[in-house]
Amino acid sequence: MQVFIVGAGPGDPELITVKGQKLLQTADVIIYAGSLVNPALLALAKQGATIYNSASMTLPEVIETIEQAVKIGAMVVRLHTGDPSIYGAIQEQMDELKRRQIEYTVIPGVSSFLATAAALKQEYTLPGISQTVIITRNEGRTPVPEKEKLASLAAHGATMCIFLSVHMLDDVVKELIAGGYDSTTPIAIVQKASWPEEKIIRATLATIVEELKDKDITRTAMIVVSRCLNTDYELSRLYAPEFSHMYRDAK
Ligand code: SAH
Repeated sequence: MQVFIVGAGPGDPELITVKGQKLLQTADVIIYAGSLVNPALLALAKQGATIYNSASMTLPEVIETIEQAVKIGAMVVRLHTGDPSIYGAIQEQMDELKRRQIEYTVIPGVSSFLATAAALKQEYTLPGISQTVIITRNEGRTPVPEKEKLASLAAHGATMCIFLSVHMLDDVVKELIAGGYDSTTPIAIVQKASWPEEKIIRATLATIVEELKDKDITRTAMIVVSRCLNTDYELSRLYAPEFSHMYRDAK
């Protein structure tokens, strides 16, 4: 096996998996998603490794680079931010590799919505509040199917992690309220979760737009909307004394 699609994690170079780190250290060719992958990870590359920034490459160029490397027996790591399965545009790469009969393996990563929960010190799934996490984005240049518009998803009142949308915050807030979230619903915005320059802003749907003004947060930020963010909740059944399960009898 020579080609690895690797999740780089959310930014902190120690949040890549052990497997991903080992592969980065042995790769002959590294193609990384330059706009978001922390360049500190590239310091792991061995001497003589060839490193490409895919930000300035097209899909055919990426595939061509991989194919050429494989032909000469080189080991390739394609490094994506967070977990590659979320807004990673990897399907088109994988399909193209398959078409060329180039085998590959995918190594998962810590997605930024999880690093965001860690930054907020927040559980997304509180009993009696929300047991569902919706991962989504507002429509931008990439269309979003009609049934998945923010307003429709908001109707569930579940915890929502909204990617790629902080530059359209006005619009996001309008959609969420139109969909049924009360304007007092808490919202948090985390920019560059797990990076040294991480920033957290907390407000409600009514106040967040004003709160974010002049803060210069226009990219690499996660929007979390959830009543979990400031609420009294029921205690989890898992650790309740009167609750028995496979590994523990009720007291
Ligand atoms: N595959 C990535 C997401 C790529 S899309 C993942 O699993 O995290 C890029 C979007 O991810 C950004 O617009 C932002 O919404 C979010 N993002 C990426 N890194 C982030 C970070 N460190 N903190 C907050 N949001 C981040």
